[in-house]
Amino acid sequence: MIITKQKSLKEIIKYLGGEERIFLVGCGECSTTCKTGGEDEVRNMKEALEREGKVVTGYSIPTAPCIAAKVKLEFAKHRKEIESSDAILVFACGLGIQSVKENTRVKKPIHVGCDTLFMGAIDSGGSFLERCSACGDCVLEFTGSICPITRCAKGLINGPCGGQNKGKCEVDKDMDCAWILIYNELKAQGRLHLLKEKHPPKDYSKSSKPRQLTL
Ligand code: SF4
Ligand code: SF4
Repeated sequence: MIITKQKSLKEIIKYLGGEERIFLVGCGECSTTCKTGGEDEVRNMKEALEREGKVVTGYSIPTAPCIAAKVKLEFAKHRKEIESSDAILVFACGLGIQSVKENTRVKKPIHVGCDTLFMGAIDSGGSFLERCSACGDCVLEFTGSICPITRCAKGLINGPCGGQNKGKCEVDKDMDCAWILIYNELKAQGRLHLLKEKHPPKDYSKSSKPRQLTL
């Protein structure tokens, strides 16, 4: 899931400037789960913008499998509302915002309602946790399914830096040292021998951007 955080109303109002008629776009998937672009958040934003003197011409919340796949269809349904707007304000991840741009035949300014933070998983307490940085060359096979690229502050792939203290990272004392977690996990799995394998420096050319995959 892509984790987003809604921008402040103050920042959004600044983006809109003198534009008065605004069409809102949310996201029925990740941004709904993050409570940044679901039905409730879009309705709340509609009311907030109206209190600021704006006219919300309508809104759309594309759903599964992803906003990116549904934008064209949704925009065809709302064409008149979009045509009568000065701008489109999007509450989705960066991918969703760019999909809106690529699938809108009617050219209008597109404004950003959310900051995109990271790819995340949800824990039992409802927190979003960054667990993978999409490095393009996965090493989880050797690390007990714990990602050192993402969870070690230094992104080390051949063991710890030696700075951990009581299992906590020297960079952030509230964070578990990833390599202590990896050691404990491999020990529990009876696979500690994997720690003796040396890995070449990470090949970051595999994550050079922009990436593309065609099936
Ligand atoms: S090593 Fe970590 S960042 Fe790279 S693909 Fe695997 S989980 Fe993702
Ligand atoms: S203390 Fe652990 S998690 Fe922190 S930088 Fe060193 S090896 Fe990585």
